[in-house]
Amino acid sequence: MFFERLVLATGNRGKYREFAALLPASLVGELVFAPELSKITVEETGETYAENALLKARAWASASGLPSLADDSGLEVAALGGAPGVHSARAVPGDDSARNAWLLAQLGDREDRRARFVAALALVTPEGKEFVCEGECPGRIAFSPSGAGGFGYDPLFLPDGVNASFADIPAETKNAISHRAAAVRALLKIL
Ligand code: IMP
Repeated sequence: MFFERLVLATGNRGKYREFAALLPASLVGELVFAPELSKITVEETGETYAENALLKARAWASASGLPSLADDSGLEVAALGGAPGVHSARAVPGDDSARNAWLLAQLGDREDRRARFVAALALVTPEGKEFVCEGECPGRIAFSPSGAGGFGYDPLFLPDGVNASFADIPAETKNAISHRAAAVRALLKIL
């Protein structure tokens, strides 16, 4: 399948940059960034990443008249019973650094710092075809933030096999191993 123009259902430039680097030219001609459409409010009422990604992709496909790709992602921390999970973006009021401070406070000096990022992708066409898939990236939570790159919980996430946080490593390295990279590989398989 090839999409001449595919709109990415996000107003987040960090995510747009990642997807622009992840999606091969054999799948997408132009990846459209339309932050003005993010004012269409999509209630993320799903219980799962996949449901939320589908809600977003459907809304953006009908608002733009273009095929739409949405992701819904989150961080699952083992010692917190999988929290913040689907609620990662809204775990605490405030910005990314408030959420990072909240996560460190929740974990305290606990030894078990296992965590994983999970991403679901939904691709919906204006004709109503729907594709959904998931990817994950295992790792652990650092004792203090490190690095200036990335977004969200990146400064606290140490992916397995890498001795640095997602915010420390170059974007190309994150894009080779991230949950979104794994989800894009799954998407290419099902399309
Ligand atoms: P979404 O926009 O509803 O998918 O929210 C996902 C939230 O999970 C983001 O706001 C971040 O807090 C977190 N998140 C997801 N992916 C990443 C990532 O690659 N790095 C850091 N934080 C992430």
